[in-house]
Amino acid sequence: MMVVEMAEGSTRRDLDRVCESMAGGGRSYKVAAGRGGAYVMSADVACGEESAPFRAFPGVRSVSVTTCCHPLASREIGGESRPMELARGLWIGDGEPLVMAGPCAVESRKQLLATAEGVQQAGARVLRGGAFKPRSHPYAFQGLGSEGIALLKEARATTGMPVVTEVMSSEEAEWVAPHIDILQVGARNMQNFSLLRTLGELDRPVLLKRGMCATVEEWLQAAEYILAGGNERVILCERGIRSFDKNTRNTLDLSVVPLLKSMTHLPVVVDPSHATGRWELVAPMSLAALAAGADGLVVEVHCDPAEALCDGPQSLTLDDFAHLMTRASKMFHALNEEEPSWRMPIAR
Ligand code: PEP
Ligand code: MN
Repeated sequence: MMVVEMAEGSTRRDLDRVCESMAGGGRSYKVAAGRGGAYVMSADVACGEESAPFRAFPGVRSVSVTTCCHPLASREIGGESRPMELARGLWIGDGEPLVMAGPCAVESRKQLLATAEGVQQAGARVLRGGAFKPRSHPYAFQGLGSEGIALLKEARATTGMPVVTEVMSSEEAEWVAPHIDILQVGARNMQNFSLLRTLGELDRPVLLKRGMCATVEEWLQAAEYILAGGNERVILCERGIRSFDKNTRNTLDLSVVPLLKSMTHLPVVVDPSHATGRWELVAPMSLAALAAGADGLVVEVHCDPAEALCDGPQSLTLDDFAHLMTRASKMFHALNEEEPSWRMPIAR
């Protein structure tokens, strides 16, 4: 495909000229929002010769022909990895792992506040908690909805931690965005293209989970939908893929971490909780993810896992989470010979 990048400061007229020429040549195209100017993408141009005339158009910064099906998400067109600001003063991808932790679902004020305070003390920087839960079982607890959003806001006010929560539809995304810092797309919705398009237009970072059976290309194409709308803040989250063995809930594909690092500039985090479905496997897989170069973790933690309404068997207790953070700190220290910025006891 051909990617025409418009220069910063190029005019509407410049863009129209490129589009008219594409259409005149019978080629289909799409305009994507970009960092400086817009991009015009056409899947109908496959060779350099055909793309050459576009280089001379006024306002055009560069013209590339690529076989990549997710150009903005690629390093080739989208550039090198760079730190991403998720909320005021909170960065991911700056070399220091960012840990998001909290319950699977917001269940009650008491449960959320106890868990939020515990994970914060242990060094988590973002509080997770589902208010709208995508449950396979139609009669299982579906989340507290708007009441859950209000509780997340209260937990943020109490702890100062930004919050991440899942949205399942465009309507939910638009409604939730003004209240919540980071919006999550769950595995079951990774290819909900109308939701992805809506998220592309919102000014909120998106935690994009890998679909249960999604290839890396499909996942990056899902990210591309968001990037193409002008929202550059997409975080990729590996949460395990479906496999044949029933001993674990999913199969954690850790090789995808260094692989994605070579393919995309987007930050990559790992969710060992949904990947394994078993709390006792969460700590070892968290350490392995950080050793593989993940930019962060998403970990389910509950103040009382035995009473959890959702995903109790994979949730860490507050003590186990604090222990994991201490070990992660030790490991990060050993690998990088510098202290991470997360607030946790630095073990020596
Ligand atoms: C979750 O984060 O609670 C969740 C439902 O995750 P996933 O979409 O990865 O299953
Ligand atoms: Mn869960």
